[in-house]
Amino acid sequence: MSSLAASLAAVLGADNVLIGDAIGDDYSHDEGLGPHGQMPIAVVRPYTVDVVCHTLAWASEHGIPVTARGAGTGLCGGCKPRPNGIVVSFERMQQILEIDADNHVAVVDAGVSLGALNVAAAEKGLVYPVFPGETSATLGGNVATNAGGMRAVKYGVTRHHVLGLEAALATGETIKTGGKFVKTSTGYDLTQLIIGSEGTLALVTQATLKLVPLLRHSATLLSPFRTLAQAAGAVPALIVGGVGPLLVEYIDRMTMLAITAQSGISLGIADEIQAKTEAYLLVVVEGRTAERVDEDTQLAGGILGEHGAMDVFMLPASAATQLVEARERSFWAAKRTGATEVVDVVVPRASLPSYIQRVRAIADKHQTMIPGCGHAGDGNVHLAVFERDADKRYALMRDLFEAGRELGGVISGEHGVGVDKRRYYMELEDPAKVALLRRIKKAFDPKGILNPGTIFEEVEESRGSP
Ligand SMILES: Cc1cc2nc3c(=O)[nH]c(=O)nc-3n(C[C@H](O)[C@H](O)[C@H](O)COP(=O)(O)OP(=O)(O)OC[C@H]3O[C@@H](n4cnc5c(N)ncnc54)[C@H](O)[C@@H]3O)c2cc1C
Repeated sequence: MSSLAASLAAVLGADNVLIGDAIGDDYSHDEGLGPHGQMPIAVVRPYTVDVVCHTLAWASEHGIPVTARGAGTGLCGGCKPRPNGIVVSFERMQQILEIDADNHVAVVDAGVSLGALNVAAAEKGLVYPVFPGETSATLGGNVATNAGGMRAVKYGVTRHHVLGLEAALATGETIKTGGKFVKTSTGYDLTQLIIGSEGTLALVTQATLKLVPLLRHSATLLSPFRTLAQAAGAVPALIVGGVGPLLVEYIDRMTMLAITAQSGISLGIADEIQAKTEAYLLVVVEGRTAERVDEDTQLAGGILGEHGAMDVFMLPASAATQLVEARERSFWAAKRTGATEVVDVVVPRASLPSYIQRVRAIADKHQTMIPGCGHAGDGNVHLAVFERDADKRYALMRDLFEAGRELGGVISGEHGVGVDKRRYYMELEDPAKVALLRRIKKAFDPKGILNPGTIFEEVEESRGSP
């Protein structure tokens, strides 16, 4: 394999390729809590789409698995290399090519981070409103996972904001899909097919993204509830009430204790109320004027009170920012306290209270705790699982996934299937649907070189011969 890696370096130029000891451990894994990673035989770090295409043509010829990597912040093992595979890392394709204020569009290289895009968009009074919690994540990674995040309740997820893509195919050709326009009725929608395909159909090299005006006024409410089901039950009323919240997050008591301790913040809520609280709802409203925000805040507070909130606290701006950031970092709190998996099942918003009751019953059955928080406005939970024994963990996870599906949901709302959840996906998904997805994969990637073993179990006959 080392001679193959050396031949790749010879084809692409040594500056584009890391081999041997030059490959850092970071390239072997993402942030997922699943089994440990795998070192690739080479890491290609292209500056240009041409180098991406040459890499894919070379990999096709030699039947070498190719795994794309953005910032490696994924949570399901999606960018873990395959044995004897190579990584294409987009860390050097970081140009913001255009912020087109008239069309409300950004055109960016795949390796641009969310943080960098939003600094550039803000200079023109705009924002890319999809906010998955980790701003170092790349737009290429966001597209590949159809990333969501806290603001999806108002703005939707990545697929609602991608207007077009440039992508490199497994054959080494490039395609452009969509464009700066907001509608199309011109053949199959390849943009939407590539979004969420986790690097298994094509490598995204550029994205054309829809921006929205940056609203500069906001207010943050925090409401304690006696039960988690009650907190989740208030959400549909909040949304149907017309407030149009920017985010509606639930945080259970144990998670709130962990994230506030980790961030060193105090909620300023009396101890006797905290003692009776099983869950909190964190609600942010935003608007063009302070008056409009005041009006919506009153409305939201009233709805929360009518639906069982013990109180409604309006947080000062700095405390609000700290709490939202602490909630975004809840994954690190779970990891630090020994979580072995994070589950991101999504169910219809109104089924969230039922799902939460099912989770409690599953925790009792498996004699464990399953704390969490999540995007309540989207019916999307983030549950921390603490089970070290692999067989017991499998049984517990399977129960959590099945309960979600029985309520009309799916096993991942935003993190993806990756390699860590493919066993459950293969066991629970409709076989006719999986067979169709495999045929689509084959049409895009005839030799099966693109992230094989991600989403699906590997199938030998679909792989190229080395
Ligand atoms: C603290 C924390 C909070 C998070 N919060 C959220 C959240 O709220 N919502 C959410 O949705 N996610 C969240 N995530 C998960 C993660 O940030 C997202 O999955 C993100 O989209 C991954 O981007 P990345 O650049 O790190 O991709 P990577 O992890 O590098 O890759 C992810 C997948 O995309 C593929 N890929 C990467 N780049 C390309 C490309 N150019 N072309 C084709 N395929 C590619 C990889 O092969 C892999 O399958 C969080 C992660 C952390 C650590």
